[in-house]
Amino acid sequence: MTNWIRKAGAAALDLIYPPGLYCISCGKITDASRTYGLCNDCMAAAGWNTGRRCEKCDRPLSDNDLGPLCFSCRESGTGNRTRAFNKGYACAHYGSVERAVIFAFKYGSRSDIGDILGEILYDRMISECSPDELAGMYDMVVPVPVYAEKRKKRGYNHAAIMAESFAKRAGVRCESELLIRSKSTKPMKGLGPEERKANIAGAFIVRERKMEKISGARILLVDDIFTTGATIDEIAGLLKSSWIDPEGRKHKGASCVDFLAYAAAGDMVVS
Ligand SMILES: [Zn+2]
Ligand SMILES: [Zn+2]
Repeated sequence: MTNWIRKAGAAALDLIYPPGLYCISCGKITDASRTYGLCNDCMAAAGWNTGRRCEKCDRPLSDNDLGPLCFSCRESGTGNRTRAFNKGYACAHYGSVERAVIFAFKYGSRSDIGDILGEILYDRMISECSPDELAGMYDMVVPVPVYAEKRKKRGYNHAAIMAESFAKRAGVRCESELLIRSKSTKPMKGLGPEERKANIAGAFIVRERKMEKISGARILLVDDIFTTGATIDEIAGLLKSSWIDPEGRKHKGASCVDFLAYAAAGDMVVS
């Protein structure tokens, strides 16, 4: 496709979806003054993550979770399930409003939603610290990469759009090209925690010319949904690993890897 056709396509999308005119969840016509582009009904039904949350991954805790950690994080460190990331932040509980927002963003050609999600992510972090503190907390923001074939089909890299919008607001550098998703994986839906871990193992690599950047870095990963955390753990483990350059010198990996997600699923198992 030549560049001008692509541009004409993007302009046509702008005509169909002028940013701020259609609710980002249900698609109903609304007006530009709505917070986060949500109509009143969707705003009221959204599951903002303001209740009890897991201290480690930030997922909402159910009434059955009496302690500070969710089941998955309690289990980490035992068996072969470990948490490689340091700390998570999630904006909302993954419910019907959030599902519709993510669906419209990923499959509904509404790339404009990415900018709004960047604003939601920013507001979540600003509820934890001041804008100045946030600007100094991380060396880089890194989106969880999409497999190249999928990105081509969709026409845009949804995680990168959200991450770039967030990073611009936060005043932190965004490294959208740091990671590559090197293999296509089965959909995670329907897989248990161990199957998810096996499915995602080895799915990412750090771009060779970017390796130097990760040594000692404090990194914030950005993704749309956090479920079991298998993907985030896989990437955090990779970024924290030490590596050897072509001259045989050993370098350390990232010093800290946190993640920030728009939506987090509730605890999977309660025993
Ligand atoms: Zn709505
Ligand atoms: Zn947790």
